[in-house]
Amino acid sequence: MYRKKIEDFTSGVLECKSWLENKYDGLTENEEWNEFGLKDIHIICNGKRCGHYPKGSPRYMNGKRIKIGLRRCDFYLSYCKKLEYLSPIGGIPIDRYDGYKVCLIHELTHFVQQLQNRNNSEKETTKNELEYLIEIKPFYEHQLISYEERKQQELKYKEYRKLYDRYGNRK
Ligand SMILES: [Zn+2]
Repeated sequence: MYRKKIEDFTSGVLECKSWLENKYDGLTENEEWNEFGLKDIHIICNGKRCGHYPKGSPRYMNGKRIKIGLRRCDFYLSYCKKLEYLSPIGGIPIDRYDGYKVCLIHELTHFVQQLQNRNNSEKETTKNELEYLIEIKPFYEHQLISYEERKQQELKYKEYRKLYDRYGNRK
């Protein structure tokens, strides 16, 4: 059973901020960074997408900078070819609170890239989220696979999908 209830959204933000502050010099001297908090995050219970909006967010987000879709937080899914390890094709089921923090690390890293006037890099954000996950839950390391393995999974999946729907029922 994976827990789906998040008791304290604020603690997650603080934890992720301090993890990144240890990694990047000068963050704690940045006013915009210091002021960032839960008030700047739009949380969607039924959403599957997360994002960082440096140049203004969609209207429904009321000017908030980061979006977190909680249904995206129930599993760990990555697809960055440039990294040594990836998640398997369907993702790894994880605790929602862990997933929430992993997504925050990703989006907050985009925020750091913006504050430091650097280009958007998915390699950096994905590397950070993966590093963070393995740090808080080393157990998941054994489920990660290489890009080659992932590619094989995708190819096989494509073949099966010609015959079956995604729930495994014959078409
Ligand atoms: Zn990203």
